[in-house]
Amino acid sequence: MPGSGPDVTRSATAAADETRPVIAVPWPTPDYLDALTRAGAEPRVLDPSKDDLPAVLDACDGVLLTGGADVDPVLYADPERHPTTVVDRARDDYEIALTRAALDRGLPILAICRGVQVLNVAAGGSLVQDLPSEQPAALPHKPGGAPDRVAHEIDVRPDTRLARLLGGRLDTSHRVGVNSRHHQSVKKIAPGFHVSATAPDGVIEAIEQPDAPFCLGVQWHPENFWRTGTFAGLFEGLVDAARLEKLRRA
Ligand code: MN
Repeated sequence: MPGSGPDVTRSATAAADETRPVIAVPWPTPDYLDALTRAGAEPRVLDPSKDDLPAVLDACDGVLLTGGADVDPVLYADPERHPTTVVDRARDDYEIALTRAALDRGLPILAICRGVQVLNVAAGGSLVQDLPSEQPAALPHKPGGAPDRVAHEIDVRPDTRLARLLGGRLDTSHRVGVNSRHHQSVKKIAPGFHVSATAPDGVIEAIEQPDAPFCLGVQWHPENFWRTGTFAGLFEGLVDAARLEKLRRA
């Protein structure tokens, strides 16, 4: 959502509790904050005008990267910007610096939608700028409708962190329906990362860094299911890893 800023209305409802790990979250919508709070975290909404990097991470135990506009293709050395690509360069610069600092520190990271694209670019990968133009045979990945509407299924690779976190949500073929809504996707995967899920048309829907304590990016929107808990395992995985990070630094 281009132009949207941090929304702190819901975070104020979460009682501050210093035993909860602190998750840094730039540009959240209320669903991200509710998903984090329900998983046991204390969300800290970052304000780029005040929260300097990397210093702000001294007070954080993990990072959640959220949805939004497209990453500037200049940042992954693509010289041509597709007409559908809408960028917010100030946000790109802040979030890529945030992501690199978090990767350097080994902080747990969960990255959602635009977030997985930021994560992949920050770590040296590239993006498909417009799926309908570059892969005309692709399934509809942005079908419209309610936020929790299932767009397509994904095939989750066994022996990945994602497969473990989704556990019983997967059918016997390691498939689950997801509410993706995107026109871009991971193209060249960043060094050190693995693909952990693809759509039936081959579009990359999740990546992870197997050597990190917790570093996972998904192309769909698990936060929209915070009321039902369908994808709560992803947030609980982030918060569990952040709790260990908090203990490690105590
Ligand atoms: Mn998709």
